[in-house]
Amino acid sequence: MELPDRSICYRALESRDPRFDGLLFVGVTSTGIYCRPVCPARTPLFRHCRFFGSAAAAQEAGFRPCLRCRPETAPDLASWRGTSNTVSRALALIADGALDGTRASVDKLSERLGVGERQLRRLFLRHLGASPVAVAQNRRVLFAKQLIQETRMPMTEVALAGGFGSVRRFNEIFRELYGRSPSTLRRQSSTGSVPAEAGVTLRVRYRPPYDWDSMLAYLQARAIPGVEVVENGSYRRTVEIDGSIGTVEVVHLPQRQSLGVTIHFANVRLLPAILARVRRLFDTGADIETIDEHLSHDPLLAPFVAQRPGLRAPGGWDGFELAVRAILGQQVSVAAARKLAGQLVASHGRALPKGFRNQAGLTYVFPTARTLAAARSIGVGMPVARQASLKALAEAAVADPNLFRPFGTIEEAIARFRSIRGVGEWTAQYIALRALREMDAFPASDAGLLRGASVIHGARPSPSGLLNRAEVWRPWRAYAAQHLWAAQAPEPTQRRSA
Ligand SMILES: [Zn+2]
Repeated sequence: MELPDRSICYRALESRDPRFDGLLFVGVTSTGIYCRPVCPARTPLFRHCRFFGSAAAAQEAGFRPCLRCRPETAPDLASWRGTSNTVSRALALIADGALDGTRASVDKLSERLGVGERQLRRLFLRHLGASPVAVAQNRRVLFAKQLIQETRMPMTEVALAGGFGSVRRFNEIFRELYGRSPSTLRRQSSTGSVPAEAGVTLRVRYRPPYDWDSMLAYLQARAIPGVEVVENGSYRRTVEIDGSIGTVEVVHLPQRQSLGVTIHFANVRLLPAILARVRRLFDTGADIETIDEHLSHDPLLAPFVAQRPGLRAPGGWDGFELAVRAILGQQVSVAAARKLAGQLVASHGRALPKGFRNQAGLTYVFPTARTLAAARSIGVGMPVARQASLKALAEAAVADPNLFRPFGTIEEAIARFRSIRGVGEWTAQYIALRALREMDAFPASDAGLLRGASVIHGARPSPSGLLNRAEVWRPWRAYAAQHLWAAQAPEPTQRRSA
């Protein structure tokens, strides 16, 4: 694990430097507790400090999480550790539940990533200081702790949501780590428990700055009628995972440098997966200062970065849904693609059950790949070839449920997408960028990108010219693309001060 020098780490601790939050954890040998660098507790002596690059590493070294600074609330920068793309992809899969459940294994995980199991373990040790299994377990425990402290979910649900087989097992592990039972962490004032189905609100922290206005404008322009609603500064949508249905609402809490996420979903086992999607969609894991600084080295791009500090690269909520959007968006405007998506949902989407109808404007869940693959006709007003392409996409997604999860290298991912009928280079790059969150993906032939580039350059470049130009933006071309798109987008009519 490549941490800064010990004395730099200690200085970060002394000054409670928020720039190190999420990147650095300190284990205090005199107390056996580990903290975030921003912990309000008295700074420990230098000789009592051990520094770690991840909460999992601190836990694996035998430290317990601090109850004051709550390491589970540090910004989750997991996918930014080190320079290993394999580790980033593995962490995305772990967040998605790749190591949860009885059938999961590191062997299968490494197979999906195209590396050997031993190599994956070595990479994890180098970049995170902990094994893949330890990282997954640390996530589960910290998530359960967050649920205990931020919600009133019953302990049986907390145990399930944390991926523990039973309440007994949960209690055991928790006692081992914290030296006390989970229920003692509940605030005394909270009376009675409330099942998750009635709504769970959690906070997801990010590293500032965060350009919320641009994110919301992006989502608003693309909101699929019936599935997504953007209004009054919030984003709401319907959720369907493995046949379970619910809703989620996301708001901005700038003073807390967090997003507030309210989930209505009966199947609590899927809460971590839903939060992982929120993190992906809203790009909360970006080390945005580093990215903005890198892009500012390009004098032509610098003014645009300065204009929108903290601009994020939105991810796809769901890989299949995102890929469908990409195909619907071929050759047409964003507004036209949105309309087509609305038609598709109205013809093939499952109706949201009555219990959720209090969520105004939300009426359908997005159709599954299985539904579209089985549909006799797509029945949406667009060329026959593109309808066939949607069908081929749905069939490919049914044949391989992991199609839109990270695997192998970016080139392999692009090649796999391109093997689907009607998916060309632009669509494949776009899917890699949004669904796989490949931060270096770059759909150079995109009309909006070329228009944005012409704002920067004064003349419209060719796709290959833009591709050459983009070399200096590596390894974060996706963020450069976002700035180019934003540069050519009209200002949203109602920019809200979040
Ligand atoms: Zn602390």
